[in-house]
This record gives sequence, structure tokens and C-alpha cells, in this order.
Amino acid sequence: MIYFDNSATTKPDKEVLETFAKVNENFYFNPASPHAKGLETEKLLTSAREQIKNLLKLEQQSIIFTSGATESNNLLLTGMARAKKQFGHTIITTKLEHPSVLETVRALEDEGFIIKYMRFKEDGTLDLEHFSSMLTSDVILVAMMHVNNVMGAILPVAEVAELIKGYPKIHFHVDCVQSFGKVPLHLEGVHSFCLSGHKFNGLKGQGLLVFSQLKTITHTVFGGGQEFGFRSGTVNVASNVALSRAIRLTLEDYEMQRARLYQMKEEIERYVKQFPGIRLNSQHNGAPHIVNLSFVGVKGEVIVNAFSRRDIMVSTTSACSSKRAKLNETLTALHVPDQAITGSIRISLSKNNTAEEVHRFNEVFREIYQEVEELLEK
Ligand code: PLP
Repeated sequence: MIYFDNSATTKPDKEVLETFAKVNENFYFNPASPHAKGLETEKLLTSAREQIKNLLKLEQQSIIFTSGATESNNLLLTGMARAKKQFGHTIITTKLEHPSVLETVRALEDEGFIIKYMRFKEDGTLDLEHFSSMLTSDVILVAMMHVNNVMGAILPVAEVAELIKGYPKIHFHVDCVQSFGKVPLHLEGVHSFCLSGHKFNGLKGQGLLVFSQLKTITHTVFGGGQEFGFRSGTVNVASNVALSRAIRLTLEDYEMQRARLYQMKEEIERYVKQFPGIRLNSQHNGAPHIVNLSFVGVKGEVIVNAFSRRDIMVSTTSACSSKRAKLNETLTALHVPDQAITGSIRISLSKNNTAEEVHRFNEVFREIYQEVEELLEK
């Protein structure tokens, strides 16, 4: 099997699984318990938190362990918007965001917040001039992703941070789920960000919210007050220790893996570009692990099934939206034409993929192309 759906999820590293099993076996105690074993378990949790802070080179920021980026985004956006509503009601985001941002801001709209969306130019780049004109004294929150999960587009976090600098009331949140381990993180001017373990060979159900002004959000989960009071519930110590291991493993050979991913991406792009009726949607200067292309005139699902029958797993647009009937909002916002959106597929790579797999993918691509060739709009 060739697995090219790594933006949906990745295979856990063996070391991560071993760490998870070992900690669960030996430190299954509740870190909030007052006895010796509880204290030892708490120590382990503290050391995982410290390790992550060191690995990510965090100084003043705090880390909240969560069940993943969906929870991190919900926690931050809801908690921050509600905490800041005496200062303003406007939240700025993009149509490219993951549903954990888009659906949260839609829910906040029902609470009376005003949601505005950044605009993208015809060439797919963020319209910074337009963004700048949206910055009024009513804006309290700006939330954007670093790398888009559908197209692999890299958003200009540093430029946005620079423009926000003059507005001290604005909190700037960045979803780094698809960029961590793939694209350098420049976090100056970013007030919070989130990561998700299963996107970098960690486990599903583990994530982080990194936060610079912890006291400034309202609580959304009530209970025993764990995770500094922001995320009540007995802490999953084994998962959090395993997450610190996954982060360490990712950073260990990051430069080398990044170069490998770029090479594999280039190889696929170079190959598919030669076929009339194939539209390359992702940009060459995007993230190293995502290729998005369209079989114009044929449904993406048909192509995904054709690959799947040959034991190659690719995706339509994104796992979270592929079951929905509507056109993908990311591709629409980035000006991909409707027929191309319908026929789009995403190939997403990880460090586990090889040049041989890319070679096999290209062979199969040609086979499938020949099968559907006469249906394509050239
Ligand atoms: N943000 C982005 C950009 C994603 O790609 C995803 C997952 O697909 C998420 C957030 C949600 O992450 P999780 O699965 O950890 O909830």
C-alpha cells in the first residue's frame, strides 16, 4: 500500500507508540493524586511540558495539552472572543481555515460577533492591503493558518503579525497544524498557536495550545481545573509524554526530511504537468508535502477510487470536507475554477514516503489518465 494522505493523518512512529505504552503501563496514576505515585506522574508531565518548551524554543509562553487542534482552536477562539468582548466584536479570519476555526467563528457570529474574511488575490496570495484596511479599533482577534491543508499554500504569518503590531487589543492566533515539521515557524508577534500530534507521526487525540497570555481567556471547559484551569479533565500523561517524543523526533531530522519532501513533490509536479487536461492547483512555492491537482471534467472521487483500487491512497480535497456536497471553500477562495474544484485530488506526503513510491504513483497516474482521457476538458 502507498499512503499519500498524510495531511489527513500520519502513521505513528514506533518510538512514540512505545513511549505511550510504557508510560501507560508504569505511570497510569492520576497526576493530581497526592500520593507518591501521583507526584511521580505529575513530575513526568511537567518534564514533558518543559521538554516541549525547550524544543519549540518557547520562553514566556504556556502550554495547554489538548485532545488535538480542533479542541485547541475552539478553546482559544471561544475563550478569547468572550474575554475580549468589552473591547470590540470583530474577528478576522480566512475562508481557508479548517472547520475547527470556520465553524467556531460561525457559532461566535450567533453570539453577536462580527466575522470578516481576508481576501486572496488572483495569484492565490493574501491581499495584505485589503487586510490592512480591515484593521479597525473594533477588531479583537485575528486567526489564520500557517499552511493550508488542502492546497499547501503558505500564508504570510510574519507580514500579518507586523501589520497587527500597531493594534495592542488584537490577539493573533495561528493554526500551525500543517506547517510544523514542514515549514519554519516564525512566531514573533504570534500570541497563540496550535499543533496536532497525529499530523507529525504522533497519535490521534493529542495536541497543544501554546499561549502567551494565559490569564486572558475565559474558561470553556469546567471541572477539576487541570491544565491551569483551562482544560478540566484527568490529564492523559502517556499521550502528552508521547507527544513530546513525536515533537523531538520531528525536529531531529527536520531539514533533511523537508528537502526530501520537496524533491518528491517536485517529481510529482513535473510529471503530471505534461498531461493536457490536468490542472496543477497547488503552488510550487507552497508547503513541501502537498500537491493538489485536478482532472478537469472528471469527479475527484472517481480518481481517488481508481488510485485506491490500485492500492494508492490519496484524497479528494480534505478529509474533513470530502463528504460534504458543497465545493471546497479553500479552492473557491483561492480562485480555482468550479470544474477544477470538482475534479481535484490531494496528494500529501510524509517522511515515511519514498522516491520509489513516487515513481509507482506516476506510473499509475498515467494508467488512470489514459482511462479517463476522453472525458477530460482540455
Ligand atoms: N487545523 C488544520 C489545518 C488541520 O489540517 C486539522 C486536521 O485536519 C486540524 C486543524 C484539526 O486537527 P485535529 O485532528 O487534531 O483536531
